[in-house]
Amino acid sequence: MGLTIIGEETAAPTPAAPTPAASPTPAAPTPAAAATPAAATPAAATPADPAKCTTCKDEEKKKKKTWAEEHEKEMKASLAEQKKMLEAKKADLLRNDDATKANLQKFYGSSSEETRQTTLARVDKELALNNEMSKNPSAYFQDAAEGTKPGTYAYVYPNDSTHQIYLGDAFKTAPLTGEDSQAGTLAHEMSHFSDIGGTKDNIYGATGALGLAKTDPTAALNNADSFEYYVEGVR
Ligand SMILES: [Zn+2]
Repeated sequence: MGLTIIGEETAAPTPAAPTPAASPTPAAPTPAAAATPAAATPAAATPADPAKCTTCKDEEKKKKKTWAEEHEKEMKASLAEQKKMLEAKKADLLRNDDATKANLQKFYGSSSEETRQTTLARVDKELALNNEMSKNPSAYFQDAAEGTKPGTYAYVYPNDSTHQIYLGDAFKTAPLTGEDSQAGTLAHEMSHFSDIGGTKDNIYGATGALGLAKTDPTAALNNADSFEYYVEGVR
């Protein structure tokens, strides 16, 4: 899946590297920027004609509705699918049998107890956040900033304690579940939050992620796409 420096993905037709267009934007989201989500601040437009004021504001409000707000049902469905994925992984991790180990080995290049515990903790934290988000999705999802590269799934500010997820065009057309799905993207993005997984985008795409498991297990465990594909259970 997609691409960017911190927490941003773009649709990547080729597995390992995202398309050139998807190449990371220079400015990595800074923690400070996360404190005040841009979209949360209504444009301070002062209507020229006071008579039109009420109408203007209503119109403005309408326009300001985010995609997630307009698609609340879909967002709830995405979250429900993500929850299903996470619960399946949790059950697998708790079983701790040969299949569990083989799966960890495949995506992280290690089936050590430490790898299992790290993954389990991340799954548990995502389940807790998923639960919060499911109560009121529109409080957590915003449209990606204007100028965001086409093909972007989503991005986050890792230190954002309010856990906002910014949705790009690729997310909005992605399938609900399966590989590079909305549900998997949520798992990917949530894993970036420093209080959940603090993952990085070391490499994008399923092929790249599976390769990383073989060459650098530590980087794989810390890679958001590796977690996404692990959760999606693809390939
Ligand atoms: Zn990412």
